[in-house]
Amino acid sequence: MFEDKEQSKTSLEALGEFGLISHLTKHFEIKHKSTIKGIGDDCAVISAEGKELLVTTDLLIEGVHFDLSYMPLKHLGYKSVMVNLSDVYAMNAEAKQITVSIAVSNRFSLEALEELYSGIQLACHTYNVDLIGGDTTSSSKGMLISITAIGTANKEDIVYRNGAKPTDLIVVSGDLGGAYLGLQVLEREKQVFQVNPNNQPDLDSYTYIIERQLKPEARKDIPKLLKDLEVKPTAMIDISDGLSSELFHICTGSKTGCKVYETKLPLDPQVISTCEEFNIDSTMVALSGGEDYELLFTIPINDFEKIKGNPNLTVIGHITEASEVLKLITRADQELDLKAQGWNAFKK
Ligand code: ADP
Ligand code: MG
Repeated sequence: MFEDKEQSKTSLEALGEFGLISHLTKHFEIKHKSTIKGIGDDCAVISAEGKELLVTTDLLIEGVHFDLSYMPLKHLGYKSVMVNLSDVYAMNAEAKQITVSIAVSNRFSLEALEELYSGIQLACHTYNVDLIGGDTTSSSKGMLISITAIGTANKEDIVYRNGAKPTDLIVVSGDLGGAYLGLQVLEREKQVFQVNPNNQPDLDSYTYIIERQLKPEARKDIPKLLKDLEVKPTAMIDISDGLSSELFHICTGSKTGCKVYETKLPLDPQVISTCEEFNIDSTMVALSGGEDYELLFTIPINDFEKIKGNPNLTVIGHITEASEVLKLITRADQELDLKAQGWNAFKK
């Protein structure tokens, strides 16, 4: 990492726009019969197959959302898809298609874009989605990526943010704070490298959290798990900005409050040890660190037995009547106001 890998570079100009698009997309195969027409016409055509269609889009900008000095392009391609699929799964839906639009400056070579697309392709393969189109253009500076994901669900299965009811349990998948801490480690190593380029970082003790930052996985498995357990969440959202901020969205949407217990927050041992090393409060990181791409949802209290003991799921609190009053119950049994600080505010 951090090396300026010398490669024999092919300029994008040499291919032209159409050559570039066909070169980058030729190895993608169509997997869904609902993809009637993919790349190659004025529009893609998809069949909703009698279900509801769900659409979500994200725009990622170099220097704002990603830093190519430690983000390999293949990982960037993969993560850009994950960010979008995560939103589809957060509606309890199945992701089927994506479009990918990119703007690149002449700093990028064909080989660089091949790397980006190999990550996109791996994501499409692993998550069973079709690449059905996009747009390609130049930028005066840096790289921009915009991905749109399309999913389907039966109308009655879709879960919105606004359905949480008092006494519902608040559940989170996986663990929290890893992606934020991974970013802190990468930023620190980048600075060390800038001071002394010969200093190769030793990142062995941070593999989990760095992977959480560089190669997150969207929780495709959770909608399926919930279906198998016969649990339909009353509200659901993905954790992209941080737990507090997502709880805030569910509570304002549902006109409720919540109580979340500090002792219940799921933390990986590596998150705890890295917090100690960086001298940051692990609760803060769990509440406000972004980019975990876990799912946060609420379920009727009567469904507790169905999810109890599942290693993928942790009950962290419950929904209360008190409209928009979000409380954290600390280890010392104190009640603190939760603030929706979100990812950016926390970064400062
Ligand atoms: P148009 O002139 O209609 O915008 P383009 O020449 O931009 O069409 O694109 C040709 C085809 O290639 C379309 O099907 C479009 O969706 C697809 N496409 C363009 N850029 C990309 C990209 N970066 N990734 C995937 N598909 C793309
Ligand atoms: Mg176009």
